[in-house]
Amino acid sequence: MDKDKSATAAGIVERRVKRNIKEIEAYSVPHIDCSIKLDGNESPFQLPADIREKLGESLIGIDIHRYPDPEARVLREKIARASGIPTDGVLLGNGSDELIGMLILACTGSTERVLYPTPTFSMYGLSATAMGAEVIEVPLDQNFDIDLESTLSIIENSDPDLIFLASPNNPTGNAYSEDRIKSIIENAQGIVVVDEAYSDFSGYTFMPLLEKNENLVIMRTLSKVGFAGLRLGMLYAKPELVRELNKVRYPYNINSLSQAAAELVLENHEFVSENIQLVVKERERVFGELKSISGIDPFSSDANFILFRVEDADRVFSELVNRDILIRNFNKPGRLQNCMRVTIGTPEENNSFTDALRDILTP
Ligand code: PMP
Repeated sequence: MDKDKSATAAGIVERRVKRNIKEIEAYSVPHIDCSIKLDGNESPFQLPADIREKLGESLIGIDIHRYPDPEARVLREKIARASGIPTDGVLLGNGSDELIGMLILACTGSTERVLYPTPTFSMYGLSATAMGAEVIEVPLDQNFDIDLESTLSIIENSDPDLIFLASPNNPTGNAYSEDRIKSIIENAQGIVVVDEAYSDFSGYTFMPLLEKNENLVIMRTLSKVGFAGLRLGMLYAKPELVRELNKVRYPYNINSLSQAAAELVLENHEFVSENIQLVVKERERVFGELKSISGIDPFSSDANFILFRVEDADRVFSELVNRDILIRNFNKPGRLQNCMRVTIGTPEENNSFTDALRDILTP
């Protein structure tokens, strides 16, 4: 059979790629090289030298020619023990990004609807659309908290299969009111996923609610507390649900280097808590500094970053890049117009950032 024009790459994309994929944009992080990198909500702290050494020793011993343990059993057991959850209630992902995808793939079996408040982390919408689910976005209220009345009314009318609540939320930084989250967990018939990617910086967790709430799923990640390079996300839920989610998990999704490194981190975690406390202390200091600069309106944060508004975000962004400082520019029409997000760095990095801002914004 002769190939016709539709077998060219463009023709294949036109005819064979699903419409919902063609309609979305890939998740992208602008790549700009700056020495002061405050754009990715990572930890600014390197692994301590003694742990780096132990890590080297541990990685040398890995049989890289073999597949990793497909179930990451040792690591999963260690994580389960550390969090007080039974091992069969724990699922690991290649970052919580992967867990979001697994949830949407497996758990849109009834109404095929996924609900989340906006603005929030873009992967909920991206994954849901890519997988053909219907997305329902509910705007957050004036304080970037959950609009409970609208959310409950949509839940009642549309019965979403999945509800994603990032608390603390990205990019707004605030934790949602505990009562509003609880009310959603109690009223929803579908699954409520509380994404606790930043909860180490708020000191609050919904983990104790897992036992009594069968529709609650909690996600956490190692990415924000010093190990973004490992790509390890954790999901906690009832074993019945974890068993189903495990069916859409790719085998060997946690590679052997990450498994070994994460095991080591769990055995030596004192420095992690110390670094979290340092970030929280710096967050409060940077917030005070931002408040004191005229032309900046910072939003209070429970996370490891701060969202703030300026008069001309695009100008401030490029002037910061000129000074070798990279933050995240969220400027586009709507709720985040002229908003920017800065990740809390080391005290020195934070000083360079606030000094640069003062300089840029002083007439
Ligand atoms: N959830 C939220 C709210 C996030 O902000 C992020 C990272 N930007 C993630 C999940 C994904 O984290 P991970 O690195 O574990 O994939």
